Amino acid sequence: MKRFISISVGELILKGRNRKFFLDKLISRIQRSIKEFDYDKIYTEQGKIYIGTSENQMDKMLDSLKKVFGLVYISPCVGVEKDMDEMEKAAIKVMKEKMARDVVKTFKVVTNRADKGFPIQSPEVSRRIGGAILKNVEGLKVDLHQPDVYLYIDIKENCYIYTDRIQGYGGLPVGTGGKGLLLLSGGIDSSVAGFLMAKRGVKISGVHFHSYPFTSERAEKKVKDLARILSMYTGRFKLYSVNILNIQKELNAKCPEKEMTILSRRFMMRIAERIAVENGIDALITGESLGQVASQTVEGLTVTDRAVDKLVIRPLIGLDKREIIDIARDIETYDISILPYDDCCTLFLPKHPVTRPRVEDIERSENNIDVYGLVNEAISAMNIYDIE
Ligand code: ATP
Ligand code: MG
Repeated sequence: MKRFISISVGELILKGRNRKFFLDKLISRIQRSIKEFDYDKIYTEQGKIYIGTSENQMDKMLDSLKKVFGLVYISPCVGVEKDMDEMEKAAIKVMKEKMARDVVKTFKVVTNRADKGFPIQSPEVSRRIGGAILKNVEGLKVDLHQPDVYLYIDIKENCYIYTDRIQGYGGLPVGTGGKGLLLLSGGIDSSVAGFLMAKRGVKISGVHFHSYPFTSERAEKKVKDLARILSMYTGRFKLYSVNILNIQKELNAKCPEKEMTILSRRFMMRIAERIAVENGIDALITGESLGQVASQTVEGLTVTDRAVDKLVIRPLIGLDKREIIDIARDIETYDISILPYDDCCTLFLPKHPVTRPRVEDIERSENNIDVYGLVNEAISAMNIYDIE
């Protein structure tokens, strides 16, 4: 009787033309997420992925696997030979273990005979295993309609028995959806934006803007801490850290105060685009959400977009703050996000920012400054960190 983890993957991966590409990526993501564990092997058997493991590391492995995108259900299971006696014994054990964790009064056996060569038909297997459980485990009844627990018997090349189906995030394996550069601030929104795009298969890198020494080193550390949590979902990534203090000073000296925010944002986009171009990254990702602040109006976003040619993805555009916070809590970035360290955006913050900027006005203001030179200068002094 061996321990396994079984993994159901989305239909997309199983049926699409690129099935092998998706599956290979998924398996390599899975391997990476459990590399610190001492597992037996990973293999596929009739539509599911299996990992041979041991009981004592099961819970920790499940926690790591839950963060891999592309997994729909994850089940700890027991594997035995396709022999009714063995199967009954294993089913009794699995049920007793379930009862040690949860209150269980009723159950139903669900058999899936994928191996049609197995001589006993599914209803009969369920009936015999149900009978063996009733005889050997006290205090249980069968309930075919609303059981407390389903006991699954999957008959394939081996027989796998389990009760729990832990829901994964679904989505697509990271690396199947192109590359994106996430503008990562220390706030709540941008990490959530990165998480959501990684969930759709995008391989993420990050860029953070700061105004050291006006913003503190602790503020940069906070962003690295956020990036580290994100990397549990996205895999390791590069974080580019760019000082934009000179740019802000220049804007402050030469441009209308009310345009400060929108002008800074256009510089952030330009610098991000340059990093993206130089590193073969296809799109920029931000945590903007419509109407959240003055620069995130339709007009504001239009002007921001005009600074760059690359696709700008804003996965939070239609979400309320409440919904964003719920995701941040779930992925465990929230507590770090709300730590009160300074952000470069708070420096030179205009009292009355323009909410409906016009491209012509903003471009006119930029005529007074050396945009190209400032971008170059900022990029040549940036730091790059490897986040793991
Ligand atoms: P919150 O609104 O919770 O503070 P936030 O800082 O992510 O989160 P905004 O300040 O509204 O959001 O900025 C909008 C978006 O611009 C961010 O989601 C992020 O993508 C980008 N951004 C803002 N400031 C920075 C920064 N210092 N470094 C990198 N990206 C930034
Ligand atoms: Mg925001």
